[in-house]
Amino acid sequence: MTLPLTIEAQAGAARLGRIQTAHGAVETPAFMPVGTVGSVKAVPQDVLEELDAQIILGNTYHLYLRPGYELVRSLGGLHKFMSWDRALLTDSGGFQVFSLGDLTKVSEEGVTFRSHLDGSSHLFTPERSMEIQIALGADIIMAFDECTEHPAERERSRASMEMTLRWAKRSKEYFEAHKYEVPWNQAGMAPSAPALCGIVQGGMYADLRRESAKRTVELDFPSYAIGGLTVGEPREKTVEMIAAALEVLPKDKPRYVMGVGYPQEIVQYAAMGVDMMDCVLPTRAGRHGLLFTSEGRLNIKNARFAQDQGPADPKCGCKVCARYTRAYLRHLFVAAEPLAAMLNTIHNLAFYLDTMRAVRHAIRLGDLSGMLSGVSLA
Ligand SMILES: [Zn+2]
Repeated sequence: MTLPLTIEAQAGAARLGRIQTAHGAVETPAFMPVGTVGSVKAVPQDVLEELDAQIILGNTYHLYLRPGYELVRSLGGLHKFMSWDRALLTDSGGFQVFSLGDLTKVSEEGVTFRSHLDGSSHLFTPERSMEIQIALGADIIMAFDECTEHPAERERSRASMEMTLRWAKRSKEYFEAHKYEVPWNQAGMAPSAPALCGIVQGGMYADLRRESAKRTVELDFPSYAIGGLTVGEPREKTVEMIAAALEVLPKDKPRYVMGVGYPQEIVQYAAMGVDMMDCVLPTRAGRHGLLFTSEGRLNIKNARFAQDQGPADPKCGCKVCARYTRAYLRHLFVAAEPLAAMLNTIHNLAFYLDTMRAVRHAIRLGDLSGMLSGVSLA
């Protein structure tokens, strides 16, 4: 399965486009909310549709441990299980294995880790990651990679990059042999398959990033991701690594930067020519009472909002801002009401999705400079 990208307009390096998946089109540049265990935390699926989220993420590591991929497959796959008809992307499980798994041990075969839930021992290999992701049945699935730790010496970053390239080849071989086994295919209908996305690594070395991109492209994937970023490096380094990979990645295929970022960062990366991004920030920050607004970030638990009759963001058109005051949102948060997480997250996702909508509009008009004026490298 290819992942056709139709480019409709350009402004500098930025592209306005549309990616066609097996479950509908995704307008790009796109921000993808993260639905870790088959749920964008605190937000029901009908609200995600109202917010016009066209694609969301699921995390393979979490879904593998709970409820288990065999169960999800037996219930018709992740789309059906979570009642989401639009596009889905699953990650490879690699990032979480490294960040959440206990006692991880990496070998050529794969990664052995202990579950953060019950301490049980598991092995993820490129083949196993493909098997799990195909069983979950997302539209876009990710090659199994090693997220290089930071900081890492050059030789260590190169060795890790070489491993990711070997794992990418193994991922692709297994994927090609099994891609039609997704749970959405039914007897008597023409089978369709998900798209497999290759991942660029290379640590914090621009030449390694370029080499990783070149050799990943030689393996020929329908789309490419840039991984292993925002792992503690300064922001100008993130920008440099993205730029190095983008120099090499083909312009006619979707390009995805994983795990970014703050609102001004996703604007900047879209301006550089990135088509897809995902991040837990709007959802996680919402649950902690941090709101992203046109006036900057605000911490809703702050006492200065106790009698504030205004909306969270006067420029936001979301249903939270249309109905509730800062005073009420503050009260909910201080009282630890579950509604606080829900309302804060809905507003934050609306802000992120509106930001990308504004980026797409600006690209259509041919000028992103107004949106980039607030962007700094600090
Ligand atoms: Zn709002």
